[in-house]
Amino acid sequence: MSTWNDHDRWAALCSGLSCPICCRNEPLDLVATLQASWVTMHEAAPVRGYTCLVSRTHVVELHELPEATAYAFTRDAQRVSSALLAATGAVKLNYEIHGNSLPHLHMHFFPRYRGDCFEGQPINPRLVVQPVYAEGEFQEILDAFLRGLNS
Ligand SMILES: [Zn+2]
Repeated sequence: MSTWNDHDRWAALCSGLSCPICCRNEPLDLVATLQASWVTMHEAAPVRGYTCLVSRTHVVELHELPEATAYAFTRDAQRVSSALLAATGAVKLNYEIHGNSLPHLHMHFFPRYRGDCFEGQPINPRLVVQPVYAEGEFQEILDAFLRGLNS
């Protein structure tokens, strides 16, 4: 059953009361803190270089951010975009905002590569075969990404 169908549970997630990010005061796998967002990466990713930008303000929808915070969130997304493209050598980045199971605003970044198994279509994380990184590759990409993010 979708969380949407449990009205009380969904309402508590949306209000932030039972939001796992807000309850921990930050997301898991945190690698950087930006003006309006946290940046997360982890090795068990759906694609090499997968990154998530998590709003530091609990809102469900993008339009709920105060205007100045929305601008800052967008600038953070641009910084991540630039650093991630350089760090991964991807052909294209895909950006996705869902929040269907965790309604705390976050944006997924999926670097795309020539010959990746979803070429010509969106990533389907359920069909990904782990691991997506070669030995040591996660740390190399993370280090390059953080250098680019801070330059
Ligand atoms: Zn939250």
